[in-house]
Amino acid sequence: MKLIEKIADLREEIKRFKREGKIIGFVPTMGYFHEGHLSLMDIARKRSDVLVVSIFVNPIQFGPNEDYNRYPRDLKRDLKLAEERGVDIVFHPDNREMYQENFQTYVNVEKLTKGMCGKYRPGHFRGVTTVVAKLFNIVQPDIAVFGQKDVQQAIVIKRMVGDLNFPVEIVVGPVIREHDGLAMSSRNTYLNDEERKQAPMIYKALKVAREKVKMGNRDAAKLKEIIESTIATAPLARIEYVEIVDDENLEPVSEVKPGTLAAVAVWFGKTRLIDNIYLMER
Ligand code: AMP
Repeated sequence: MKLIEKIADLREEIKRFKREGKIIGFVPTMGYFHEGHLSLMDIARKRSDVLVVSIFVNPIQFGPNEDYNRYPRDLKRDLKLAEERGVDIVFHPDNREMYQENFQTYVNVEKLTKGMCGKYRPGHFRGVTTVVAKLFNIVQPDIAVFGQKDVQQAIVIKRMVGDLNFPVEIVVGPVIREHDGLAMSSRNTYLNDEERKQAPMIYKALKVAREKVKMGNRDAAKLKEIIESTIATAPLARIEYVEIVDDENLEPVSEVKPGTLAAVAVWFGKTRLIDNIYLMER
C-alpha cells in the first residue's frame, strides 16, 4: 500500500493504471476509520483493480462553530486498517495541497441541499460537493462508494455526478451499526458515557416507526410524532429535525410509499448525530 500526499504524485500513479486499463475504485473519507468506512472499502475492493482511499478532513465543509479543530484524527491507525482491507493507495493531502491561495471555485447542488442537514449546516454540502468534485478530478475513479449513513450526501453526490457528467458510478453501502444499533460515526467518540448509553434511542425510534408502517400506518405526520416522542424518552436528546422524505428528491411526503425514508439529526450534549431508515423499500 502506498501513502501519497501530493496531487502530482497521485496523478502519475493513476495515469499508469489507466494506461494498463485498470478499473479504479475510490472511497473518500475524513479518516478515523470504523467498520462503516471499512465496509465501503470492501465493496469498492470487490469491484475494482486498484482501490484508492482518501483521508482529508475538509475544512470548507465545516461551519465556523463546528468541530473542524477537534475532529478526531489518527493516520497511523487508519493506514494499518486500510492496508488490512486491501487498499492500494491512501491519498492524504494537506489543506494547502487541496486549497491553493486564492481558491474561489465551488460546486453547489441547489435544491437537494436546502432541507434536512442543509438547513442547519449552511454551506456544508457546498463544501462536500466541491471537495468530492476535486477528488474525482484527481483520482479519476470508475466507481466511488459512499455510505447510506449520510443519505443526503449520497443523493447530492449522485445529482452532481449526473448534472456535471462525471464518468463515475456511485455505489451506496448500507449503514453499519454498533451492537446496540447506534450508527457508527467518527463523532461517536465525542459522547460521554451517559450520552453514549442513550444514543441508541435514535435507531430504536426509527425501528418503531418502521414497525408501525409494517402494521399499516402510512401517515407521515403521525410517524414523525412517534419518532420524536420515542427519541424524547432519552433525557439528554435534543432533536434538530425528524423528516419523512422521498429518497429521490428528499421532499417531505404526507403518506409513506416505496422509497420513503425517515431521517433524523439529534444532539447529545455537544455532539450532533444523524441516522436514517427506509420506512418502505423501493
Ligand atoms: P466520513 O469519514 O464521516 O466523511 O465518512 C466517509 C464515508 O463513510 C461516507 O460516505 C459516509 O457516508 C460513510 N460512512 C460513515 N459512517 C458510516 C456507517 N456507519 N455506515 C456506512 N457508511 C458510513
